This record gives sequence, C-alpha cells and structure tokens, in this order.
Amino acid sequence: MNFLEERIVKDGVVKEGNVLKVDSFLNHQMDIELLEEMGGEFKRRFAGRHINKILTIEASGIGIACITAQHFHVPVVFAKKSQSINLDGEMYVAEVESFTHKCKNHVIVAQKFLGPEDHVLIIDDFLANGCALQGLIQIVQAAGATVEGIGIAIEKGFQSGGRIIRNLGFQLESLAIVDGMDAQTGSIQFRPQEEK
Ligand code: 5GP
Repeated sequence: MNFLEERIVKDGVVKEGNVLKVDSFLNHQMDIELLEEMGGEFKRRFAGRHINKILTIEASGIGIACITAQHFHVPVVFAKKSQSINLDGEMYVAEVESFTHKCKNHVIVAQKFLGPEDHVLIIDDFLANGCALQGLIQIVQAAGATVEGIGIAIEKGFQSGGRIIRNLGFQLESLAIVDGMDAQTGSIQFRPQEEK
C-alpha cells in the first residue's frame, strides 16, 4: 500500500451509496503534509511533461492543486461552480453533473486565465463517473489549450470515469484506485500498483 492508501484505510469511512468519506484529512480538515506528499508524487509522475498551469475545480480540488503547484512552480486556476460578481469578462462554461450532490452544476473559467499557450495539468480529489473531469477537459479544449495530464487523489475504479478518460487517451494518474468497498464491513480493496 502507498501512503495515501494507508491513510484511507486508517481514516476513510465507507458510506452507503458508494461514497468514501475522507473529510478528516482531505475534504474538510486537510492534512497538509499528506497533500505535500501527493504533490511530490504528481511531480514525479508528470516529470516529462511541460506544464505551465494547473486547473482544478472548487472546492475540494483547490488545496491539493495549490500544494502540487509548489512542486511545478506554476499558477493554479480553479473553475467556479456558480456565477459571482467577481467573475467578469468572457467565460468558458461547461455543464457537469455532481455525483455527491446529485445536481447539475456549471463549471466556469474566465477566458483571460486560460488560452492556447497553456499546457495544463488537471487536478482533482475524486474521480467517480468522470463528469467533473469531462467538464474541465471541455474547458481546456475550448480555450485551445493542451491537457498534459490529469492527477487524481482517489479514483473509484468501480465507477466508469477512469475507463472513459483513459480511453480518450489522456495520461490519468490516480494515487489510489479503490476497486471495491463495503459500507457494512468498512472494507476497501485497492487496485494493485502494477495494474494501475
Ligand atoms: P464525478 O464527476 O467523477 O462523478 O465525481 C467527481 C466529484 O464528485 C469529485 O470532485 C468529488 O467532489 C465528488 N465525489 C465523487 N465520489 C465521491 C466520494 O466517494 N467521496 C467524496 N468525498 N467525494 C466524491
């Protein structure tokens, strides 16, 4: 088991409805030393890539993206989920369905922060059905920018997102892939390292 898998076993909670709760170290309270280790691991996995920007989505992706950005020395852009008075000018907008909130969200990025010169690493906390990621990919492509890679903390391998995104040809690196979990027993099975 790697460092993140060990932490998930120690502090993750399996909920009904295929939800893995990791709010004690990732989604609410954040363990910054763990995030630091994740950032270093993303740097190692995308070492050969020319990356000049990190893109994530509010809210849970932001912490991981910021710590990862310190390893790449690049800025972070986070997509917003709702219009606000602080968003002005032309915008890229994609529609995504939220797995946890069971609703549709808009994903919005101001055009001034993403353009054809950008080589983007997309970072997010979870990958389930891939809707959030597909929205972010859509926005990068609408900007004429390049997706250099996608870094995910926890992929739920029994849901379809990972397969869809890999089939599209993207380098998708998930630090932990959960292939099965049981809310009754609390057990979690990870995909073995060599099959990732
Ligand atoms: P997707 O769009 O891939 O279906 O879902 C990804 C988003 O839903 C993530 O950004 C994450 O916020 C949320 N999510 C999906 N599954 C889980 C889960 O099991 N636990 C938690 N904490 N968040 C999840």
